[in-house]
Amino acid sequence: MHVYLLMSIASNSGHIAEETKADLLKRFDGRMVADRPLADLVTFGIGGKAVLYAEVSTAEELAEIVAAADDVGIPFFMLGGGSNVLVSENGYGGLVIHNSIKGMTANDTNIEAGAGIDLQDMVDFATEKELSGLEFAAGIYGTVGGAIFGNAGAYGSETGAILKSAELVDRKGRIRTEPAEYFDFGYRSSILKRTGEFVTRAKFALKMGKKELIRKRVDEILAHRARKLPQNARTAGCFFKNIPDVKEEFGKLAAGKLLDEIGAKTMRFGDARVFEKHANIIINDGKASAEDVRRLAEILKAKVKEKFGIELQEEITYLGEF
Ligand SMILES: Cc1cc2nc3c(=O)[nH]c(=O)nc-3n(C[C@H](O)[C@H](O)[C@H](O)COP(=O)(O)OP(=O)(O)OC[C@H]3O[C@@H](n4cnc5c(N)ncnc54)[C@H](O)[C@@H]3O)c2cc1C
Repeated sequence: MHVYLLMSIASNSGHIAEETKADLLKRFDGRMVADRPLADLVTFGIGGKAVLYAEVSTAEELAEIVAAADDVGIPFFMLGGGSNVLVSENGYGGLVIHNSIKGMTANDTNIEAGAGIDLQDMVDFATEKELSGLEFAAGIYGTVGGAIFGNAGAYGSETGAILKSAELVDRKGRIRTEPAEYFDFGYRSSILKRTGEFVTRAKFALKMGKKELIRKRVDEILAHRARKLPQNARTAGCFFKNIPDVKEEFGKLAAGKLLDEIGAKTMRFGDARVFEKHANIIINDGKASAEDVRRLAEILKAKVKEKFGIELQEEITYLGEF
């Protein structure tokens, strides 16, 4: 079986000895479970089980679990809204930690939010508080933590541009706070993809605005997204990253444009198909397996490579063995 070179160091597949598993379940009795199906936690609606699973609602709880997992040397992975992950049919042989750290406050022009807050809830909260700067994030799925991890963005702006600081838990279970500069944000990337640290809480710097104008912009973006993107479909949004190109709008050549030119919009593999209105979106059209999605993605990549000599890079994270 081939193990993919994964996007995130945390997404490596792994193995937990039965004794270690039993010890952890005993130690975290009532907080950790075994063999938790993951399909209902990811927007693709696909994938197997996590050997171990825990939901955390505070940084301290996360730190304790991470330290314990590190102590016994098992792999662990954080799941937020599950809107950018493809889980293997064989599941994940380690511990999945589901981020449910909530809480949101506004202070002057800053918003502080738990990393498990839905990004859209933060957009709505900012609108209510007449704070501008988050409008671009309207309609982006997932959590605040996931948005920082991948520097989620749209409509010419991105999460890194408004982050002020964030609290992190490192892979030994130590808690600390870092300013925005630490995160080394790039296009759909942050330092977290290299360090594997977890965001628990984040502070964003916004500007005072007028509620009607903020709401108008949010509504425009939501309406535009509703026309462009699949509605209520099982997908993870754009599968591949756009390609840096200074000659293009926003400095990126859209992967969807290249995919369109290889005829992607009519392609499918099993029950995985490309969205007919956007060639960079793969949809689980019924009973697609994770393997169907991956095989379709491989075919798309090969065709783009053959026609344009460009190697598309996944925006999504693969979790488990493929
Ligand atoms: C229909 C649709 C449209 C989309 N449109 C956009 C778009 O316009 N722009 C865009 O950028 N994205 C878009 N996405 C992708 C997705 O919404 C973002 O990537 C989102 O930020 C993922 O957040 P999440 O909480 O769901 O992360 P998950 O899918 O749960 O995880 C993704 C990665 O983030 C890591 N992660 C999650 N939480 C944390 C944390 N607290 N600390 C550290 N690492 C963490 C995970 O370990 C994993 O590697 C779209 C997705 C869908 C389904």
